Amino acid sequence: MPDGYHIRHQRVMKKRVIVIGGGVAGMQAALRLREQGVEPLIVEKEPELGGKLRGWHVLFPSFTPAAEVLTELRRRVKEQQIEVRTSAEVRGFTAGGVLLADGQLLPCDAVVVAAGFTLFDASIKEEYGYGIYDNVFTSADIERMLNEGRVAKADGSRPRRIAFLHCVGSRDEKVCQQHCSKVCCITGVKQAMELKRLFPEADVFNFYMDIRMFGPGYEEMYREAQQTCNIHFVRGRISEASPTIDGRVQIKAEDTLTGRPLRMSVDMLVLLVGMRANDDNAALAEGAGLLRSPSGFFAPRDLFLGNVRSNVEGIFYAGAVTAPKNIGETLNEASAAADAAAQYVGA
Ligand SMILES: Cc1cc2nc3c(=O)[nH]c(=O)nc-3n(C[C@H](O)[C@H](O)[C@H](O)COP(=O)(O)OP(=O)(O)OC[C@H]3O[C@@H](n4cnc5c(N)ncnc54)[C@H](O)[C@@H]3O)c2cc1C
Ligand code: SF4
Repeated sequence: MPDGYHIRHQRVMKKRVIVIGGGVAGMQAALRLREQGVEPLIVEKEPELGGKLRGWHVLFPSFTPAAEVLTELRRRVKEQQIEVRTSAEVRGFTAGGVLLADGQLLPCDAVVVAAGFTLFDASIKEEYGYGIYDNVFTSADIERMLNEGRVAKADGSRPRRIAFLHCVGSRDEKVCQQHCSKVCCITGVKQAMELKRLFPEADVFNFYMDIRMFGPGYEEMYREAQQTCNIHFVRGRISEASPTIDGRVQIKAEDTLTGRPLRMSVDMLVLLVGMRANDDNAALAEGAGLLRSPSGFFAPRDLFLGNVRSNVEGIFYAGAVTAPKNIGETLNEASAAADAAAQYVGA
């Protein structure tokens, strides 16, 4: 049996890996590091762990409540007594240490960057009137309204016609976001189904450029949305939205399959906002000597054999900090990043 000194000594000798960001990726990376015998420390800028998951209602493709996943991850972090610093923003880092906004420098043996993504600000696309007209919402607003149990028009009445617009702030050179955000097509399908369940009498439309159903179960959900829920999918892009005198939103679009222009008044217009790179990625990357992709996300060392590794020894990536991803992919990648970091520190 080791005596008290030896136990203390072993603790002191444990390698420390700092995980930047306490979303899904950060929590899973820390849990896996702990399993590997490493001392993880999560540094999260918000007052709570959870990242974007805190704002979601039910998750595609299974309609699992987001709160269930979030509660379980937080429970495991607590159970494993993982050290967490909340309300602590990282301003710079190297493989050997992390600098917080308050000037503290936290030494470590390696870093896992799990700082996630930022939602595209829909008000930049002025032509859709977000933040100006009543009844124009984002997909994030819909998640919040579903969680609060109050999805309705701005005047509180039930919507009779709802339109979702895909690719808002994604695949759009005009706003310097050329990448596909990957999860918004399936989010549009999921939310359309949820709203149709709440308002069976409403007509629900999805206006899309391409439908990208990349994950397991996604194509099946898309079919169910059309065949069982009677949700309409129109290939075309809404060019403009404007308010009507009766508080509705008039949209102008072109149905690119038939080539016909289309005008329609809707009670709610939902903008499926994209996942973009965090604004501070540029400064953080410069400070650490890290490479970024053209879309501003951090660039993995190698897309095939090193996608959780950075170009700098001792710095690893987990989750949406390198590209848009769903939660399943994020969790898997976080475990892989933690394994790579543990191997690096010799745990
Ligand atoms: C509208 C919408 C709905 C979605 N619905 C689903 C769904 O139903 N199913 C699904 O599988 N996926 C869904 N996703 C995708 C899901 O949100 C992501 O897969 C997941 O959030 C990625 O987790 P992450 O930890 O990598 O990033 P994030 O959730 O962004 O977490 C990153 C964390 O890092 C913190 N952070 C950032 N910078 C710093 C810093 N400098 N210092 C300290 N902390 C920092 C942030 O505060 C945050 O807590 C959805 C995405 C969107 C946009
Ligand atoms: S996932 Fe769909 S909605 Fe999102 S950017 Fe890609 S094509 Fe557009």
